[in-house]
Amino acid sequence: MCSGRVDLAFVLRAFSNGMDGVFIGGCRLNECNYVTHGNYHALNMVLLCRKIMENIGLNPDRLRIEFMSAGEGIHFAEVMSVFSNKIKQLGPLGKSEGIGREELKSKLAEITKLVPYIKMLKNEKLASRLDNIQEYDRLFTGEEIDSLFREVISYYIDPEKCQACMICSKKCPVEAIEGGKNRIHIIDQEKCIKCGTCFEACPPRFGAVMKISGGPVPPPVPEEKRTIVRKSKEK
Ligand code: SF4
Ligand code: SF4
Repeated sequence: MCSGRVDLAFVLRAFSNGMDGVFIGGCRLNECNYVTHGNYHALNMVLLCRKIMENIGLNPDRLRIEFMSAGEGIHFAEVMSVFSNKIKQLGPLGKSEGIGREELKSKLAEITKLVPYIKMLKNEKLASRLDNIQEYDRLFTGEEIDSLFREVISYYIDPEKCQACMICSKKCPVEAIEGGKNRIHIIDQEKCIKCGTCFEACPPRFGAVMKISGGPVPPPVPEEKRTIVRKSKEK
């Protein structure tokens, strides 16, 4: 219904499924029927996605957004004709960029996993409504996307500090924390969307959740070493 509903993950999924180009059509800017102006959200998302595409070596011209009304059939046909010619000229996805299918699929999968994190970090910009097109040119920069991927945050539970209070596992929105009574809690890095809730929720007297920026995450404690033996139970 609204171009604002087109999520970054949808575009990445289309490319991951082998689409050579993605076109998004939205209502004319400033002519939204609602207060939400979702077409600005779509525009911001596309600008962000184009920078991400550049970062992984994909030609950003494979993604295009245009704004038009339902009555502009001829304009729509012209835009689509130009776009499809452009995509034909670029050839199959990855070919003109020199990226192999499997390599591209794995890069897109990595980024897709980071979509909730990217949206959380860039939330303000993604919801912005700027006054002129020049400002849009500078909304996202290549350096910004480089550092976003270079400094990706991960969360890790320090097994020496975890007291198995279970607060973090109850609050995790995606059930990424394995634990239980008297069990050292572990974050499943594959499931974690990096929301930081566990970091905020772990009581300061334990301070067991660590924030790691850009570095590797230590391996999880082996299953058989996760039981916490309380001092009173040792006697
Ligand atoms: S950062 Fe968020 S998603 Fe990841 S383990 Fe912590 S609460 Fe769960
Ligand atoms: S909130 Fe902190 S102490 Fe409690 S289970 Fe989670 S990591 Fe361990």
